[in-house]
Amino acid sequence: DRADFDQETKSVCPFCGVGCQVSIKVKDGKVKYVEGIDGPANEGRLCVKGRFGMDYIHHPHRLTKPLIRRDDAPEKGLNVDPSNPWTHFREATWEEALDKAAHGLADLRSYYGGQSVAGFGSAKCTNEEAYLFQKFIRQGFGHNNVDHCTRLCHASSVAALMENVGSGAVTATFNEIENADVAIVIGSNPTENHPVAATYFKQFTKRGGELIIMDPRGTAMKRFAKHMIQFRPGTDVALLNAIMNVIVEEKLYDRQYIEGFTEGFFEFRDHIRAFTPERMSELCGIAPEVIRDVARTFATAQRAMIFWGMGISQHIHGTDNSRCLISLALLCGHVGRPGTGLHPLRGQNNVQGASDAGLIPQVMPDYQSVTDPEVRALFKHIWQGTEIQAAPGLTVVEIMDRVYRGEIRGMYVLGENPAMSDPDVDHARKALAKLDHLVVQDIFLTETANFADVILPAAAMPEKAGTVTNTNRQVQMMRKAVEAPGEAREDWKVIVDLARRIGLTWDYDDPREVFNEMKMSMRSLHHITWKRLETENSVTYPCNGPDDPGQAVVFGDGFPRRAGRAKFTPARVTPPAEVPDETFPMVLTTGRQLEHWHTGSMTRRATVLDAVEPEANCSLHPSTLRELGVEPGGLVRLITRRGSVEVMARADRAVARDMVFLPFAYVEAAANILTNAALDPFGKIPEFKYSAVRVEKV
Ligand code: SF4
Repeated sequence: DRADFDQETKSVCPFCGVGCQVSIKVKDGKVKYVEGIDGPANEGRLCVKGRFGMDYIHHPHRLTKPLIRRDDAPEKGLNVDPSNPWTHFREATWEEALDKAAHGLADLRSYYGGQSVAGFGSAKCTNEEAYLFQKFIRQGFGHNNVDHCTRLCHASSVAALMENVGSGAVTATFNEIENADVAIVIGSNPTENHPVAATYFKQFTKRGGELIIMDPRGTAMKRFAKHMIQFRPGTDVALLNAIMNVIVEEKLYDRQYIEGFTEGFFEFRDHIRAFTPERMSELCGIAPEVIRDVARTFATAQRAMIFWGMGISQHIHGTDNSRCLISLALLCGHVGRPGTGLHPLRGQNNVQGASDAGLIPQVMPDYQSVTDPEVRALFKHIWQGTEIQAAPGLTVVEIMDRVYRGEIRGMYVLGENPAMSDPDVDHARKALAKLDHLVVQDIFLTETANFADVILPAAAMPEKAGTVTNTNRQVQMMRKAVEAPGEAREDWKVIVDLARRIGLTWDYDDPREVFNEMKMSMRSLHHITWKRLETENSVTYPCNGPDDPGQAVVFGDGFPRRAGRAKFTPARVTPPAEVPDETFPMVLTTGRQLEHWHTGSMTRRATVLDAVEPEANCSLHPSTLRELGVEPGGLVRLITRRGSVEVMARADRAVARDMVFLPFAYVEAAANILTNAALDPFGKIPEFKYSAVRVEKV
């Protein structure tokens, strides 16, 4: 009976960056069901995760009391049963656990200096919690070695956007596609990863919009597309430069826009002349006439948008890939007007907000560089005399390398799961085992918590209040629907308790106070108040006044760069860090699938989602399976230079014959055992999307 509930709460879906607004119906203190409501990003729609995935919060594996590693515990490793952790951990009071957690970090600071401690925060926290976490590390330990999953997601996109546009966020909401004539979706599989956004993309084609899908893996959206460009993996720059070569050679570019709003065009034009469709066709595998048709379609459109995902960002040339997309839009003047824009589809529900809040080692809140003396002076003023280190901090993979080398000896990990999410994860697990002191704060005993000295039980998103920011720059109010189980506490409270114990004089009584402090340094929050969010639920930044709902499209009057001009940055073709050879003849690419979220800690504990997708799987082309002598559903072994996993194989014609796709949500066949930790030099993002692999029948 859907009318039989005690209470309903308006909030935000805890999974992806679309940021669908939900109504959570609660009966007897438990979530009974979830409905979509009329949020600006979803207009009542939800996908299967939002609708059926929320019951992970009631799973018996929830952490309900603080845990401390037993003195006689076995050696640290991936060896803890989350339903029976008692040979490794014992229960503790909050007082004891907080003291042990904080004193362990503070002792390392005293003995080895602040650089011996680093922090991973989380995009599964609120903006206020992300802000407090980066402040905890910066103020408490005197450096910027604090990062989160944006490093594994869109760090390269943000690097390119900051460099060339002057802002790391999207220039237009995805809903703007309703005003576009043409849209490119590249390196993204929205039907699986941003399903509600995908519904807008499909509607766009139904009213005559021309969709161009570019991806090494065919996607479910291809039947809606004018072009499905299934190019060779890792050849993004070759393909995009060839498209821009056509636009330049055929003079299809928008001269007036280029003159008025950009810089660097002439150098770029000279650079792009070498990348003819004929030459690039050999690399990317797309016929020159198709490249020409795509270029003409995009360049002659009145209004066109570009959407991209981690197929673009997770390469050692991820920043170059994004530079190309930015240049493509600038060439044609497809930025700053309704129905135009650049939109990297953000992954986690609050990865945009956590990044905005400064949970990044190079920048303070609102992407203000730590290298800028005026920025450091501002935060010194707001943070009562705290000296901000001028050197940018270390990123996720760099931190884990320092841990492995024994240079970082303590970590505070909140809501992240590097024992599953880091590339070459065996290396990360060995590093975690070496830490003198690891504090993990989470809702479940994750793979990373296996290595912890202290585990602090946290409230899940439907159990706490705060603001979150979606891929559209929409700051939204998340509300508490149910109580956290047992003694689990809201993350912001735990961070504050730890801060006081390491000697910081913090005095916050609720998230609103934190939000108000954030507004002191974040121009993006101008005219966005807690009260507005409580009544309006969502306000888009930038916002020009107390009654302005915010700007869906930005940069119509110029860019937040020198002289208001965006920049063309030429990109060269760079091969992947490792290429197939006789021993490893195929290409491994990893990603998400519709039912499971990231490392699976939440969705594999959601009843419906786990029932639909209970088993680790990979996808191979039917011909490849036949050559291997494997029936669909049979087991294969995937082997790279880093390790091997055994996994059930599915037949999938969308995957090229020399390629295998492996979701990264399954610990029993952890994709990141196989992946390469080589980094993009600018965004410092690992090359998750390309590893040389051998596939064998088991
Ligand atoms: Fe949640 Fe994303 Fe699905 Fe919306 S599209 S319901 S935000 S997972």
